[in-house]
Amino acid sequence: MIKLFCVGLVLSLLMFGCSEREQGAPEQTRSNETAVERVGAPSLKLYTFDCGNIEVSDFDAFSSSGDYAGQGGKLVNTCYLIRHPEGDLIWDLGLPNTLVGSDPQVDGIFTLSLESSLSDQLALIGLSAADIEFLSISHSHFDHTGQAALFSSAEWLVHEDELEHMFGGEEAGAQNVAFTELEKVIFSENYDVFGDGSVVILEMPGHTPGHTALLANLFESGPVLLSGDLYHRAASRELARVPRFNSDEAQTRVSMAAFERLAKKLGARVIIQHEALDVSALPELPGFLN
Ligand SMILES: [Zn+2]
Repeated sequence: MIKLFCVGLVLSLLMFGCSEREQGAPEQTRSNETAVERVGAPSLKLYTFDCGNIEVSDFDAFSSSGDYAGQGGKLVNTCYLIRHPEGDLIWDLGLPNTLVGSDPQVDGIFTLSLESSLSDQLALIGLSAADIEFLSISHSHFDHTGQAALFSSAEWLVHEDELEHMFGGEEAGAQNVAFTELEKVIFSENYDVFGDGSVVILEMPGHTPGHTALLANLFESGPVLLSGDLYHRAASRELARVPRFNSDEAQTRVSMAAFERLAKKLGARVIIQHEALDVSALPELPGFLN
């Protein structure tokens, strides 16, 4: 199975080509940055889902500078649904839904809990997981992949470097198994999901090799940038802190600079997906931004 998959991956890479790695200074502009514009789609809607809570006993791992050592605190965890006339896209897949109804689970510095699954939250707006045409994850860490098995009929939009990161090694981790059966669209650089510039997956590597952020150009609310885990907290963004659990710090800093240039150019609202201050300002289900 894995061998067959790898053959498929190699063919896919040959067909789609490989993007060149950017090794430039943070000031350097990505060649594909200029293509991202503020293009509002009148009927676009952005829903926010609660994808769990993460208590952190020591935030030291969240800053390579060492200045978070000994601090405890909480992270929220969020997933998003973008509704477009051409289809529905779920962005990030949260903590595992097996946590619903069970005691919080301790995993190293993390205590994890989840109140409601994505399918239960989708039901609040009259949808089921089977209705969702597209899914994409900012990156493949456990708190962004947990409910993949619910979306077996969706097409997975995946950056080629994240796909390689997840499956290029000897053995795929257990958390990634649900992804192996999905139909895939494999891309490099940025990916314009519906072809009209309204929803764009943005290549922001470094936290993981194929880490991405998401731009939703909302008609009334204006452009919204979902950070993925380019930043985990407002303080990480203000101080440009890079976690210790990170694939490439220099690359992360290039991505941070690109993200900030884009946010400024578009006048975008930035949502840090683990930051309670950003998330509490968003409409609760069944509410949405448009
Ligand atoms: Zn995360």
